[in-house]
Amino acid sequence: MMQNILTFTVTIFILLGPEMSLYSQSMSAQEIELRIDQLIEKMTIDDKIGQMNQRNGADGREDAVRKGLIGSILNEADTDKINAIQRIAVEESRLGIPVLIGRDVIHGFRTIFPIPLGLAATWNPELVKKGARISAVEAASVGIRWTFGPMMDVSRDARWGRIAESFGEDHYLTSEMSVAMVQGFQTDDLSRPDAIAACAKHYVGYGAAEGGRDYNTTYIPEGLMREVYLKPFQASVNAGVATIMSGFHEINGIPATGNTFLLKNVLRDEWNFDGFVVSDWASITEMIPHGFCADEKDAALKAINAGVDMEMASDAYQKFIKQLLAENKITMDMIDASVRSILRVKFKLALFENPYTDPSKFPAIANPENLECARESAVQSIVMLKNDKQVLPLSKDVKRIAVIGPLADDPFEQLGTWSFDKNIDDTQTPLQALREFIGETAKIDYVKTLETSRTKSTDEFGKAIEAVKNSDVALLFLGEEAILSGEAHCRAEINLPGAQEQLIEEIHKIGKPTVLVVMAGRPLTIGSVLDKVDAVLYAFHPGTMGGPAIVDLLFGIESPSGKLPVTFPKMVGQIPIYYNHKNTGRPPRADSWVHIDNIPVRVWQTSLGNESHYLDAGYTPLFPFGFGLSYTQFKYSNLKLSSKKIKLGDKITISATIKNAGDVEADEIVQLYIRDLVGDRTRPVKELKGFQRIRLQPGEEKSVAFEISTDDLSFYNQKMELVTEPGLFHVWIAGDSDSGLRGEFEVVE
Ligand code: BGC
Repeated sequence: MMQNILTFTVTIFILLGPEMSLYSQSMSAQEIELRIDQLIEKMTIDDKIGQMNQRNGADGREDAVRKGLIGSILNEADTDKINAIQRIAVEESRLGIPVLIGRDVIHGFRTIFPIPLGLAATWNPELVKKGARISAVEAASVGIRWTFGPMMDVSRDARWGRIAESFGEDHYLTSEMSVAMVQGFQTDDLSRPDAIAACAKHYVGYGAAEGGRDYNTTYIPEGLMREVYLKPFQASVNAGVATIMSGFHEINGIPATGNTFLLKNVLRDEWNFDGFVVSDWASITEMIPHGFCADEKDAALKAINAGVDMEMASDAYQKFIKQLLAENKITMDMIDASVRSILRVKFKLALFENPYTDPSKFPAIANPENLECARESAVQSIVMLKNDKQVLPLSKDVKRIAVIGPLADDPFEQLGTWSFDKNIDDTQTPLQALREFIGETAKIDYVKTLETSRTKSTDEFGKAIEAVKNSDVALLFLGEEAILSGEAHCRAEINLPGAQEQLIEEIHKIGKPTVLVVMAGRPLTIGSVLDKVDAVLYAFHPGTMGGPAIVDLLFGIESPSGKLPVTFPKMVGQIPIYYNHKNTGRPPRADSWVHIDNIPVRVWQTSLGNESHYLDAGYTPLFPFGFGLSYTQFKYSNLKLSSKKIKLGDKITISATIKNAGDVEADEIVQLYIRDLVGDRTRPVKELKGFQRIRLQPGEEKSVAFEISTDDLSFYNQKMELVTEPGLFHVWIAGDSDSGLRGEFEVVE
């Protein structure tokens, strides 16, 4: 057998190279099941527990791997170490089972793409898929065959640090992006040496953490769970995602990692998921502090019962599975089911045939093509939120530019959270890109002013003010450093930290055209500074090529086209705020809201005439979901419905004409929303059901059509049955969730 593996390996490396993408080692499902049967026959209980055990890093693991006690290693990205440990696994262990090497390849490996929240702002699944493909090839080249991504936790709370890793607040957009990433990572043939297994995480509802505090409690009723939080996971399972990660959090009192209903009934029984479930980092033993398990043994029992196949980082399985079997608390069938799921993924990856990697047979990492895709992704991810007096695009004749701020030239921070394998020498910052673009034609005066985004000292303000006074335009690069978002990095205030707001105020007083470029891992409450700048480009953390992308937009080489994947609150107290909320019995109305400052003193107390709003913040967000400006204007007209009445089971086509009424070529993201007016359970005021990114020349118009079936209108009724109910629906084709052309149709039996 060992001999076979070696022969295969040689064959594969000969086949690699430019034609690598054509190479496949795939086995039929039947063959895989046969190989699993044969292997399981030979496995001792220690071998089986070994497959269920994932350890951190390869160093010092040689002996355990030789004994078959480790099935997977995470956080090892050194090719030599990976090949060495793999050699021990396949050549020196009794059964020769390769180790699965996992890593958080979240928005790029070495070529860093915008953070996922930024990727969602592209509303371009094809581009996201292309980026994931690039990330997979780069990661696979060093020997990583499994990524812990995409994260598909719907996030409606900007305080939560991991909103940066999410695709935002909407399950439809999140599903589209998640599936694109899964396909990009895995391709349709996992056995390709450049394909990596994806992991849908964190199953499920992690983004609903109370108060946006990481690892926190969630309460998610089944209807909401099924209609929102489970949706992207379901779509990913349908798209063939190889693995799932269970979350750290608890849902309605039951930790996600011990949740039999979600992991077994829904994932396995309803969806027929045949990959494997990995815990999150020590999320099995964390069920003890959750107060769900008495000790590690109990934790192992509850995780196995729920259907967690592999334990990450902690070692409760290793310590207690045998005992649990001896006490008949679990059965060998349960263990075999887990091992089968893990081996199935290893066989699908052709890891047995192709355990080693040779980076020289792969395209170079961070090559120009990869960087170009990162640049394109960044260009499409950046959202223009304001552009008064058409300050943007800047004229190429501009003579003096003041570049201000801690994020103008920081090759580290613009990469954002979860970019472990970056090389900051690849990064192109806005300042570098600006210098390259402008050359000798203009003078750039760069004053960092604040050491970091959190700096409170105003000592350097004088220099910044001087530079702005002498400039034609001020470009402010502000926001949040990478470490202020991501796992365990939640904020209760989500404003521009440090002295940044003050800096904007001082610069505003000078009266020069001022452009604010924000780099951040979340929506920041920039409302208080909005009227002190003329234009805002919201760049999230744009990645390696963020600099050139921003310059492309600043100078109108490209028109901004990103649209918000998440509602921007005016202030923290409005959170949670999201577009697809319920209507309530007293929906807010402009004519009923009296601002706190205008309420007469000692006025008679009455609730009548008041609606569901805040006295201070009102009820509207700073910017709605789906919003984003362009250098052109798009005119929406001519909404058409293929019919006014459709029968259950039928389809309807909704179309509108979109015209580029300005004088530059640009992309528009056309969105389709519906509202089901009456339901057995109440329905949201709007639900995204489709979107298309289209490109229009100046003056050009296009008819954009969406076809939906009555199945697309389904929801879970009180009995938790998936139904489409006859009745009236509103429909919008729109440029954002707060505008558009409205029509209506009826679903009849
Ligand atoms: C995170 C996961 C991640 C894992 C491995 C955990 O702390 O929650 O998302 O994949 O670590 O790095």
